[in-house]
Amino acid sequence: MPTTQPPELLCFVDGTFVSGTAPFDKIDPVDGSLAATVHEAGRDTVDAAVAAARKAMQGAWGQTSVSGRVQLLRRIADRIEDRLDDLVAAEVRDTGKPESLVRELDVVRAAMNFRAFADVVASSGIESFLTEVPGGRKALNYAINKPLGVVAVIVPWNLPLLLLTWKVAPALAWGNAVVVKPSEETPSSATLLAEIMIEAGAPDGVYNVVHGFGPGSVGEYLTSHPGIDGVTFTGETATGSAIMRAVSPQVRPVSFELGGKNAAVVFADADLEAAIAGLSRSVFLNTGQVCLCTERVYVERSVFDDVASGLAQQARALKLGRPADPDTTTGPLISLAHRQKVRSYLDLAVQEGAEVVVGGGVPDLGPDLAGGAWIEPTLWTGLDNTCRVLREEVFGPVAALVPFDTEQEAIRLANDTAYGLAASVWTQNVERGHRVAQAMRVGTAWVNTWYLRDLRSPFGGVGLSGIGREGGVHSMHFYTEPTNVCVQL
Ligand code: NAD
Repeated sequence: MPTTQPPELLCFVDGTFVSGTAPFDKIDPVDGSLAATVHEAGRDTVDAAVAAARKAMQGAWGQTSVSGRVQLLRRIADRIEDRLDDLVAAEVRDTGKPESLVRELDVVRAAMNFRAFADVVASSGIESFLTEVPGGRKALNYAINKPLGVVAVIVPWNLPLLLLTWKVAPALAWGNAVVVKPSEETPSSATLLAEIMIEAGAPDGVYNVVHGFGPGSVGEYLTSHPGIDGVTFTGETATGSAIMRAVSPQVRPVSFELGGKNAAVVFADADLEAAIAGLSRSVFLNTGQVCLCTERVYVERSVFDDVASGLAQQARALKLGRPADPDTTTGPLISLAHRQKVRSYLDLAVQEGAEVVVGGGVPDLGPDLAGGAWIEPTLWTGLDNTCRVLREEVFGPVAALVPFDTEQEAIRLANDTAYGLAASVWTQNVERGHRVAQAMRVGTAWVNTWYLRDLRSPFGGVGLSGIGREGGVHSMHFYTEPTNVCVQL
């Protein structure tokens, strides 16, 4: 049970914490208690945040040198590490994730995001071409990268600080100002990052936070606001579609990291022990609430039973419990509303003919946790790609195992989706690993691993999984507007 009073979370505009209009409750998904009271921004607060960001762009921040921005990003990374415990507490309070996971993954990556983009911007040059046109005239073309401007940053609840900083760091690295709308489910870490911005010396208006919901609320006001210059969004595909419509009258650029229905392909020649451990992580990490999580597992028929029973054993070994308990491996889903959605897929799978290998319902964790959004890690067999549970993103700790006979069939099954975010291939045949990974119609294909990457590499999805790529210089392409200067020599 919480030992301290739930905090009151304000919006942050032009370097100052400000009240919103209507406060709303943020509920702790572990036990249903009140986690925080959050100030929802009204239109006037959104207007003020956009105006503050614009003012920062037109003021000293708009003229800050690359080295000035690099130093700021490094100070922010340092302060994130200094305030590790506060950030862990904020993230745990909102999400119910195991404390150990937040400590090792989310907060560490937040600091890494700022350092990585400080390095990229410090080392990136400009594009130039020496041109010779018929007649012997020569010209020098060089493109200077100006900031995009005021960027609306809209992020989901599954990795709140990690995904927020994945966007704020490159935005600031290339000299933009941001108006951030965190998920209504996870308002705490974005609010704490505002304190860190003050401590690190970010100029007023460079980082603004407006709390609230999507349609008919802050999300919609912000994305349709004429004062923004672009939107970077991570979340559901349907929301991306709504944001595209909101942005379209202003013709602003968007960068979208959307949903997935990710496949794993396990060949009989894989190191099965390592594959099963890797698969387990890819299905169940963060209670299956990572956009990159595997929900479809295609297994070569000769090892199908071994993989199914091995993965089921891993699922049974997961320990659901309170975040602070060091034995806890798995937290709740983010909310009762999301659990309702996941449960509807558990029911649907059975209607579609699934055999439930493990899980399939709501666990009984005792009276203390009865009000939480708990769900059992679940595996199905007996389904195929025609089933809705293999076509739609569930976003929970679930996966369907389907056998295959040939490499070609495995590739066809894995690519048989409207999404295209990520895939993993498990084999000890190096040639096959490269061949199958390259055949995947996704933004990221792993071989014998999952959720491992260099922050300089391109990240994004194809099809319903997104528009554009972020990461390293790919982020520069979204967060800057190049002006080409052509000088006749
Ligand atoms: P969501 O789309 O419901 O919400 C994301 C954010 O958008 C929230 O801040 C929400 O308030 C806001 N929003 C909702 N409707 C809006 C509207 N009409 N206009 C403006 N803003 C609006 O997503 P979620 O449930 O928070 O997150 C889960 C989803 O995110 C999953 O689909 C997951 O796959 C996806 N995701 C993708 C990636 C990736 O990198 N591709 C990473 C993490 C999560």
